[in-house]
Amino acid sequence: MEIDRRQFLVMSGAMVQGSVLSGLGAGSLLGGIADAAGGGSPPWHQHIRRIGQLNFNERDPVELDVEAWADYWAGLKVDAVLVSVTGILAFYPTQVPFHRRSKFLGDRDLFGACAQAAKKRGLRVIARMSPDLNWEDALSPHPEWFMRDAGGGFLPHGEEPRLYRTCMFSSYFTDFVPAIMREVQSRYDVDGLFTNAWPPLDALPVCYCDECRKLAKPRSPDYWRQFTERVVQLWRHYDGIAKEKKADSLFFANLGGGMRATPNLRRLADVCEWFNCDNQGRGGDGAPIWGAAQQGRVATAVMKGRTVTNVTGAWSTCGAVRWRNVAKSRAEAEIWMDQTAASGMTIWYHWVGGQGGLGEDRRWQQIGRRYMDWLSRHDLHFEGRRTVANVGVVMGQSTHLFYTPPGEGGMAQFMDGLYYALLEGRFLFDFVHEDDLGPETVGRYAALLLPNIAWLSDAQCRQLRDYAAAGGSVMASFETAMFDEAGRRRDRPGLADLFGIESAGPVAGPNGNGFYARIERPHEILAGLDDTNLIPGGAYRLPVRAAGELVLSVVPAHTAYPPELSYAPVPRTDEPAVVVRENGASRLIYFPGDLERAAWRSGHTDLSRLIQNCVAWLVRGAQPVTVAGEGVVECFAWETWSGYAVHLLNYTNPNMHRGWLRRHCPIGEQKVRMTLPAGRSVARVELLRAERNIAFRQVGTSVEFTVPGVADYEVAALYA
Ligand SMILES: [Zn+2]
Repeated sequence: MEIDRRQFLVMSGAMVQGSVLSGLGAGSLLGGIADAAGGGSPPWHQHIRRIGQLNFNERDPVELDVEAWADYWAGLKVDAVLVSVTGILAFYPTQVPFHRRSKFLGDRDLFGACAQAAKKRGLRVIARMSPDLNWEDALSPHPEWFMRDAGGGFLPHGEEPRLYRTCMFSSYFTDFVPAIMREVQSRYDVDGLFTNAWPPLDALPVCYCDECRKLAKPRSPDYWRQFTERVVQLWRHYDGIAKEKKADSLFFANLGGGMRATPNLRRLADVCEWFNCDNQGRGGDGAPIWGAAQQGRVATAVMKGRTVTNVTGAWSTCGAVRWRNVAKSRAEAEIWMDQTAASGMTIWYHWVGGQGGLGEDRRWQQIGRRYMDWLSRHDLHFEGRRTVANVGVVMGQSTHLFYTPPGEGGMAQFMDGLYYALLEGRFLFDFVHEDDLGPETVGRYAALLLPNIAWLSDAQCRQLRDYAAAGGSVMASFETAMFDEAGRRRDRPGLADLFGIESAGPVAGPNGNGFYARIERPHEILAGLDDTNLIPGGAYRLPVRAAGELVLSVVPAHTAYPPELSYAPVPRTDEPAVVVRENGASRLIYFPGDLERAAWRSGHTDLSRLIQNCVAWLVRGAQPVTVAGEGVVECFAWETWSGYAVHLLNYTNPNMHRGWLRRHCPIGEQKVRMTLPAGRSVARVELLRAERNIAFRQVGTSVEFTVPGVADYEVAALYA
């Protein structure tokens, strides 16, 4: 099947509008975008493959080599470059009051020179702004622009005390920021407007300015709704400004934070054509390697086929100590780009500062060039993808923002524990937003998993019951649905009737030991857990009662030290450690314990095994793709223009959980089996990294092939 890029774009546009986006009005949104652009196919920003950014610093008007800059990005075949306008320091001769020019600007116009050099090479230009900070000289003439603490004081920036935080509910965002946007658009040929650092990434803002005092209490669910609506309102406003000049221009902003993103992402997706994840590298001690892939699952869940980019910081990102002007290891940068590509996002490659021409550390340039050279040879396999996963993981944004689980370890660890187990089991799964539980989205999944999604409204509980009534299988743990959407604790879990449980007391914690689960009878979910009567239960549990024969019973937590007392005074109870039910075609599992968090915190293999067995039982062993072989591998599979693509990310590495990758540690044979829809016949299987065809065997609807090895990443493209 030969097809050129142009034909494909038209096809993928039709595909996207026709099916992927059929739910929730998103199809009409993209259709609207296409109509506004004056054609039947989506605009340029809906089929981009690479983005480049060198973030300007104040000295760059005299340091940056503009021609070398433009040549570099053109050499990477990027679709667009970000060029700094800013808002904190102007890189062009602005006339907007309080838009302070770089003290090195002189009579130069760095923005203009870069925009022109990029355009000359056929690259789109996106004007980058930072509306989050302004200087102390604006405090007195415009006190209303700035955030206040509870005592009425302004909020200086932590690293640069001459800069103060601006308030997104103030006229700074409705007057000052639009004035810069319009000035830039009136002078330069730009293709989009972008804001860094807004919406805020890590936490909801807490401000006591006059405007914010009219809003709900900071950090409350009501405030969250007002905050989200303000983001949507400003996003629409800025997007309207972008489109004043060109119908196919757009506004977009930095998002990120994974499950803890600040605006309600499902709501924001109503107006967002391009979701950029500012998730530039692994952060903090003990951060697992899969941070980019997990972010990809969050963003693609709400964008449903529309553009998602993820920034790879080539600079030394995050961790306890960071350096913005030296490069990270090549293997670490590569695995981040691998995950970005595999999870359905577009790579946005980023460096900070052009000191000495194009940065004093030049190693980042070769890392990017090498990667993009490869990627650009295989673009079509990364466009217009549709998921084939049959498991959905419900992400509770409000739970992650507002709920604190009892005991040590936060909500993120519930997701981490589940995520690791799903990787070990090599399941294909998607994330599903809590506000997107209607049949048009969840109907495609054989099972939904709720890792302690504590806050669920009555309506959301009803949707989950409807899903199960239609034959869907559900697994939940711990305090799932114990709280409504305002955080009010219910008398009984909101899904008690679904799982056939009743609360039997307050949450119980560990006492030296966590609690145990006693094996009461054989069951498929206990496969491989042989030669023992006990397995770990968890650390904390919500005691429940349930009818029916026990599979696992609770042995309450008891003394660990001294060993003389480390035995169960009550060796057997009739309290379930798991509730397993079947109701028609629907299979249901509830764990009263903090299963996923305990799996993550302890690393105990029984708990990971138990989770994997449960998921396999829920879907009746039916997986669209199975991948057998050694190693820790994250799998994605997509329907593509050629047929399908199976992506394998190799995380097997001594630095999987800490420190950057020193090098990739190749793994051997991976045996892939994929079940195709009836009537699809595979003509060829091509490995995109190895860049060769491999043998395959198709019997009926099942196709099998062996990937001989994976260094960091391999993609098997099926032509079918
Ligand atoms: Zn305010």
